[in-house]
Amino acid sequence: MATRFSEKIESLKEGIRGKVVLPGDGGYDEGRRIWNAMIDRRPAVIVQCAAAEDVPPAIAFARENGLEISVRGGGHNIAGYSVCDDGLMIDFSKMKTVRVEPKTRRAYVEPGARLADFDEAIQAHGLATPVGINSTTGIAGLTLGGGFGWLTRKHGLTVDNLISAEMVTADGETVRADANSNQDLFWAIRGGGGNFGVVTQFEFKLHPVGPQVLAGLIVFPFNQAKQVLRQYREFAKSAPRELTVWVVLRPAPPLPFLPASMHGKEVAVLAVFYSGEIAEGERLIAPLRRFGDPVGEHVGPQPYIQWQQDFDPLLTPGARNYWKSHNFTELADGALDTVIEYVGKLPSPQCEIFLGHIEGAANEVPAGATAYSARDAKFVVNVHTRWENAGEDEKCIAWSRAFFKAAAPYASSGAYVNFMTEEESERVSAAYGPNYARLVEIKKRYDPENIFHLNQNIKPVEVAGTQSRRSA
Ligand SMILES: Cc1cc2nc3c(=O)[nH]c(=O)nc-3n(C[C@H](O)[C@H](O)[C@H](O)COP(=O)(O)OP(=O)(O)OC[C@H]3O[C@@H](n4cnc5c(N)ncnc54)[C@H](O)[C@@H]3O)c2cc1C
Repeated sequence: MATRFSEKIESLKEGIRGKVVLPGDGGYDEGRRIWNAMIDRRPAVIVQCAAAEDVPPAIAFARENGLEISVRGGGHNIAGYSVCDDGLMIDFSKMKTVRVEPKTRRAYVEPGARLADFDEAIQAHGLATPVGINSTTGIAGLTLGGGFGWLTRKHGLTVDNLISAEMVTADGETVRADANSNQDLFWAIRGGGGNFGVVTQFEFKLHPVGPQVLAGLIVFPFNQAKQVLRQYREFAKSAPRELTVWVVLRPAPPLPFLPASMHGKEVAVLAVFYSGEIAEGERLIAPLRRFGDPVGEHVGPQPYIQWQQDFDPLLTPGARNYWKSHNFTELADGALDTVIEYVGKLPSPQCEIFLGHIEGAANEVPAGATAYSARDAKFVVNVHTRWENAGEDEKCIAWSRAFFKAAAPYASSGAYVNFMTEEESERVSAAYGPNYARLVEIKKRYDPENIFHLNQNIKPVEVAGTQSRRSA
């Protein structure tokens, strides 16, 4: 197909090992489709990278032709910045290799790997590191924004386990960022998102986990949510770090262990994960059942890798999604009551509110040690507003915003950039709090023209009230 780049595009094709996909080409629609069906954008060029060396020519092509650049890892981000209109999309969906060195407990991961690819490769050696709870999420975006999941209480955020990254910067240079080289860059990418360059390989440290863990769900009727949440709050205070319990409030899916009469009715679900000895886990979780009268339970030993996929059926791609989240250092009565009030008026049956407990190792890292600064956060409350029909957009978005506003008085500072929508760009500086000024300085150095701006953008401009601390 003829495009305005017809001549130049041929040299781009010749200059890379991967594929250039243009509008009208086979695979174009598949390539531009991302997890959130609310995002429908049409890049002028998709560069499907086959190797890290494909990235500099892609950046150079975009710069020469005045195209915006978007970067796609797993394509999961709710804001949809991984795909752009009329720009160039650097697509890593074909680069998913995960190489493991079991002796040194290290994994070397390409940026298109999904959590399922990552977990499968490292669990083959009985190893794991904290990542998210939905296996189709991309490791790249998750890591660059912070990353947390079932192992975070014990082993910290995903970024706390990042050892190094290979990157291509805005000027096309390939660099390594780690504790000894390009330290500022290494600091910035541990939470600063895709603002500083394109990562072509992540190196993680790994921990022995599983392969069997104790995990599953304990489900209570919604009219017991208040007593369940209050007891949960107390329980969480003394739970050992190997034990992570999150709460999900939503209409009950048709799970076989729930009575049919409960299907579609609101429930409070304790999602339980224990990575230590199974028998000890059984002992530790026993009190959870006494928070009320459970209507169903499915908890037992299972492979870690299976648990990492257990929520996938509720989080499939192709639905419309709008999320909002707050951090909490404590769950005040008012916060819990607000959660219950809003679950009582869900706008659509796939909507849910999630309380994620992340207290532990991540809180021991000083706020200034990585770009991710919300080191006091013990809980993350995320509203998964999810529906199928565009006709429901208005009421679903309104419900989500209303909950966010009502819960705000109880929330702590900072915000998780990975859960922020496109419209929340005003929240970016607050998300990074005391680290924002340093992030701006590093952005000025590595991307002064802001060519990587399709993200929760840190602009390379002076921050009011700060002086330039630019180092040589
Ligand atoms: C269903 C679902 C469940 C989730 N669960 C969790 C969870 O349990 N824990 C958690 O921490 N988060 C969770 N998240 C949030 C998730 O971490 C973010 O959506 C994350 O951005 C996804 O990464 P991705 O690579 O799939 O996304 P993409 O949309 O591909 O990328 C997101 C952004 O990251 C940047 N980026 C991606 N790849 C690169 C790269 N190689 N180099 C430079 N920049 C890059 C770009 O700016 C891009 O716009 C969840 C999201 C969803 C949709």
